[in-house]
Amino acid sequence: MTGRILIGGKEVEGSHFFQATDPATGTVIDSLFAEATPVHADAACALADEAFDIYALTPPERIAVFLEEIAGAIIAIGDVLIEKAMQETGLPRARLEGERGRTVGQLRLFAGLVRQGEWLDARIDPAMPERLPMPRGDLRSRRFAVGPVVVFGASNFPLAFSVAGGDTVAALAAGCPVVFKGHPAHPATGELVARAIRSAVAKCGLPEGVFSYLPGTSHELGAALVADSRVKAVGFTGSRSGGLALMRIAAARAEPIPVYAEMSAVNPVLLLPAMLASEAELLGKAFVGSLTMGAGQFCTNPGLLLAIDGPDVDRFIAAATDALAQSDAITMLTPSIHEAYCTGVEALASQSGVRLLARGRVGEGPNRGQAALFETSAADFMANPALGHEIFGSCSLLVRCADAEELRQVLAGLEGQLTATLHMTTEDEPLAGALMPLLVRKVGRILANGWPTGVEVCHAMVHGGPFPATTDGRSTSVGTMAIERFLRPVCFQDIADGLLPAAIRRDNPLGLPRRIDGIRQ
Ligand code: NAP
Repeated sequence: MTGRILIGGKEVEGSHFFQATDPATGTVIDSLFAEATPVHADAACALADEAFDIYALTPPERIAVFLEEIAGAIIAIGDVLIEKAMQETGLPRARLEGERGRTVGQLRLFAGLVRQGEWLDARIDPAMPERLPMPRGDLRSRRFAVGPVVVFGASNFPLAFSVAGGDTVAALAAGCPVVFKGHPAHPATGELVARAIRSAVAKCGLPEGVFSYLPGTSHELGAALVADSRVKAVGFTGSRSGGLALMRIAAARAEPIPVYAEMSAVNPVLLLPAMLASEAELLGKAFVGSLTMGAGQFCTNPGLLLAIDGPDVDRFIAAATDALAQSDAITMLTPSIHEAYCTGVEALASQSGVRLLARGRVGEGPNRGQAALFETSAADFMANPALGHEIFGSCSLLVRCADAEELRQVLAGLEGQLTATLHMTTEDEPLAGALMPLLVRKVGRILANGWPTGVEVCHAMVHGGPFPATTDGRSTSVGTMAIERFLRPVCFQDIADGLLPAAIRRDNPLGLPRRIDGIRQ
């Protein structure tokens, strides 16, 4: 680890430096990291653009091997990666070891996807020269990488959603070079992983511009990357203000580009009446487990509970209050995230019609997030849009609804969400069924009798949702479908075999599954 800026295979010294803070102790960590500037952004984008044509047409097998090499190189970093991440984020060892497993598993899952070839979406509509009244030409399409992609790392997943995280892997799998803006909260962790990716680039004989890593703390750096005309898409996980700022920059370019930003959600949890009647105590306890996991620093944290008012709601609250009273305050990721959490909780407490139900234990030491549970009525909730905004951390608001119709109205008034959870028995199914069309309109993932925290990396996962959960609800940032954000289709009409990409040649040299006249073969 040197603290340098990594532009392709080159290491560049900086002239200004920054340091990370250990959030558990509040002390500044010794190591210095260079501040990348727009000049470095320009150099990295130029290299990515230079690498694009070669990398985008690299055979799928070689890209798959590259992703597996990255996975191996991350494991080879060894325990120092976990130690640095623990120091920079305050997250516990077990969580970070699990996250490393998820990161490596994600790389291998995408390697399998790339090999299998369906992502190319090869389609062939053979020529129909005799067709009347007009003959049809020979039409063939496949999808291609969109171009160099800029990725911003998330603070709350220093491995799985940072340098070699979901957005990076999806872009690399699609054939897009990546310029990565390092998150300033975990620069040592970031650099170690960036070096692992660089070593895999070199080992696989790929152009150096396939990956660059720019550490920095200035908005100017991120803005310059998004504004660079050679960049064709952006992946981001973080605050709503950050995502929106980047979206505006992208939209104002001479050539606007998509920004896939995953920003904020309160993830409504619906406690349906029959389930609440039979399991109020169990639900109250399990809810607190989900709320306080990782100090609530998950985009899928259950920030909103909806229930039809009655004595079972009081039973749920009593159980949740008991569990909360025993929950320790946990170190949050950064001093500023902790400060934003405290400010958010204070602001919520002062809103009209909102009542504090319970707090977790007070923390010992800096940056400890003390959990909080509030309640309000449906009428007060619907009258004040601020009550539906995310407070990043272990904070949740229970909304008491008079009846099923009021519960439906509360849901209808919500902004787009990543998830919605139904706690239900078979007796609740008519109500759940009536709410389902509304849920489909509002969220990216609907789950029953579980908790939204814990997002499986797989083929069917959707970690997305209508605005403002994300800037583009047509996509996901977790799971293999994430590759689609970085692909675009190109059709070849009456082009000779020798000029066609292998995936759509007449003899199918790659042996890919293809759709011929609309039928998968
Ligand atoms: P953030 O402030 O949005 O920053 C994320 C990344 O985006 C950083 O690299 C940051 O770089 C960059 N960035 C932010 N605003 C920018 C702008 N206007 N122009 C250019 N670059 C910009 O997120 P964070 O630091 O991780 O946490 C802050 C808050 O974000 C949290 O309190 C929470 O509310 C939210 N958050 C949400 C999620 C989620 O999953 N939805 C996850 C993490 C955080 P620089 O700061 O170096 O410019």
